[in-house]
Amino acid sequence: MDYDSRRTWDSGLDAGSIPARSIFTQRRQKGVFCEGQTVRGHGRGYSAALFHCKKGGRGLQLSDSVRKVKGVGEKAERCLNKLNIGTVGDLLEHYPRGYDEFKPLQPVASLREGEIAAVEGTLSARPQMRTAGRLKILTVTLQDESGSVLVTWFNMPFLRNQLKMGTRYIFRGKIARKSGRIVMEQPKMYTREEYYRQAGRLRPVYPLTAGITNNAVTKAVETALKETEDLQEYLPAEIRKRRQLTGYKKALQQIHFPENKKEMREGRRRLVFDELFLYSLALAYIKKSGAVPSSHVMEERPEAAELLASLPFDLTGAQQKVLEEIMQDMKSGYVMNRLVQGDVGSGKTIVAVLALYQTVLNGGQGAFMVPTEVLASQHYKSLCGLLSDRGVRIGLLTGSLTAKQKREGQESLAAGEWDIVVGTHAIIQDKVEFANLALVITDEQHRFGVKQRESLFQKGKEPHVLAMSATPIPRTLALILYGDMDLSVIDERPANRLPIKNCVVNTAYRPNAYKFMKEQIDQGRQVYIICPMVEESEESELENVTIYTEELRGIFPASVRIDNLHGRMKPQEKEEIMERFARGDTDILVSTTVIEVGIDVPNATVIMIENAERFGLAQLHQLRGRVGRGKEQSYCILMTGQESEDSRERLSVLAESNDGFYIAREDLKLRGQGDLFGIRQSGDQIFALADIFEDAAILKEAGEEAKTFTGEEITLLYQKNKRLRNRVERYLGQVTL
Ligand code: ADP
Ligand code: MG
Repeated sequence: MDYDSRRTWDSGLDAGSIPARSIFTQRRQKGVFCEGQTVRGHGRGYSAALFHCKKGGRGLQLSDSVRKVKGVGEKAERCLNKLNIGTVGDLLEHYPRGYDEFKPLQPVASLREGEIAAVEGTLSARPQMRTAGRLKILTVTLQDESGSVLVTWFNMPFLRNQLKMGTRYIFRGKIARKSGRIVMEQPKMYTREEYYRQAGRLRPVYPLTAGITNNAVTKAVETALKETEDLQEYLPAEIRKRRQLTGYKKALQQIHFPENKKEMREGRRRLVFDELFLYSLALAYIKKSGAVPSSHVMEERPEAAELLASLPFDLTGAQQKVLEEIMQDMKSGYVMNRLVQGDVGSGKTIVAVLALYQTVLNGGQGAFMVPTEVLASQHYKSLCGLLSDRGVRIGLLTGSLTAKQKREGQESLAAGEWDIVVGTHAIIQDKVEFANLALVITDEQHRFGVKQRESLFQKGKEPHVLAMSATPIPRTLALILYGDMDLSVIDERPANRLPIKNCVVNTAYRPNAYKFMKEQIDQGRQVYIICPMVEESEESELENVTIYTEELRGIFPASVRIDNLHGRMKPQEKEEIMERFARGDTDILVSTTVIEVGIDVPNATVIMIENAERFGLAQLHQLRGRVGRGKEQSYCILMTGQESEDSRERLSVLAESNDGFYIAREDLKLRGQGDLFGIRQSGDQIFALADIFEDAAILKEAGEEAKTFTGEEITLLYQKNKRLRNRVERYLGQVTL
């Protein structure tokens, strides 16, 4: 029996007894300057703590490789690397995605499918063993006063002799339904004493990858937390006091190994504050104070109107308004720094194209940066389609090009032979130079770091900057998150659109869904099916999509062309698959969420999302935005794998509305009510921990605090407080918005 997890848990609690500030105190004694923590009259406590401090450099540093953490071997290191954990610091910021809670024992009769539960009782018959293929299945029946439940273990034959009739057992495991009966699967066994020691406590559950267990990660975090030396406080003490924030080290302890929910929330609040405060400082640091004069003063050229007239549609009022705001900026003699927010499908791309065209007509170069290769090639093609005939020279620069292609592209840009470059991060590499960069556009801005936007800006002489995002952020929050950017909103959909029809169904509906897809395909339409990323391992993600596709090929007639797309493919391959789909050569595209960003195939009218309950509402909304982009009626089928009232209610918000702002607000309300207990719930990737909706109040506080620092003060603070500086710098590169 695997009791390992509990040991881990117990010793996790031991770590909590380390004096939280001892290391810090030691540093002060040594005369190392450390700003942000004022120690007042704790006299004895501190010297006692100091006494226990180990001398010498045996401890870990945040910048050390995770390999230095005791117990982390070569294999574990490889797995951790896959989770983007390279250093001790990364490990400590690998926050649990939730907690496993030992709840009070339950009567057998109250067990429900899908939950993890613990029951106490005696065996009502001798254990039975049978073999099914290569599996050895051990079965017992556990009974209490309320009834009995079937309990099974796979491939643990040795248990058979350990389980005794007449002994009282506590089993804790997952409840499933097998052939109509409630079954507890693979439970762990506890004595009463053991169980009650765990009860009410929270075990961290970490994001994992194939080859590493939750226990192994837990142990590594625990050791790192115990032995890392440079976890001293770095927030200015006044701020901590004013905002009533726990100490840094304590907060880490609380978020990884909380004694209870209150502690976990306290720790989380502090760390969320940090993310948002440091982010705000980072923004303030790079912020240009006041209006910056620009050498790219443009005039509105009539050719743009000709391009507009040639389009198969008229701009919406909102698109026109935003375009005017952009033109005003670019004519003004000052640098434009503008964020365009518009829900999925609101038509941001054409606005970008027109701004780029105006720039080229005025003799400048434009750069259009996007987060994925697939999106880059899509934008590249639509730009070529619209502008090549008008004498605009457009180039593509992405990571998957050959070295030679890249070099040639760079030469063309530097020589001014390309007017516009579309690309991924490849555009901000050091080697890339522009002859006369006048406009920088980032699409899907929330996927980029502030630093990346800034690097692109540095490539020109004060170029104009336009950022585009589909993340629906309330204005007050946007003001904080986007610092000094001016905000434009496209709050109107193209007139020819019919609202997407939505439904939330369970797996019993699947045959109907396939039938419906077939009808749509017969009418010449195309279909997306989204399978969730499987977190445990990338292999199983692959399996998921490929197996699903194979099954689908068995279900649909051979005339239906089915293809699949997943994150393990090379960019080139992904692109070819997307291109086939865009050309209409594929009828059904089975994909993971790699499809999410900005792809535009107006002929696709059905999207079915498997296991929709596993996605955040915001992410589902983005996914759904892949359909409803043309004039045909579109449909979104949200398939839930697990019957649960909570997820139904949550998903019904999507079924009610196609408005991203409304969905974000409702999502927030639901989360507030439901007290879903997790660290972060939404699917956006803006911060590691903070959720801009849920943590709006903390964001405000952090923004206020950051605002009290002038640029000079921040520079000074950086000089005095290296630790804070390092963190802010990491944020500049890391935080995406
Ligand atoms: P997003 O805002 O999500 O980036 P896109 O710019 O990709 O949306 O536009 C979605 C689709 O709508 C594209 O096929 C585009 O050609 C089309 N479109 C854009 N503006 C209009 C409009 N005013 N009327 C009709 N269709 C439009
Ligand atoms: Mg887009």
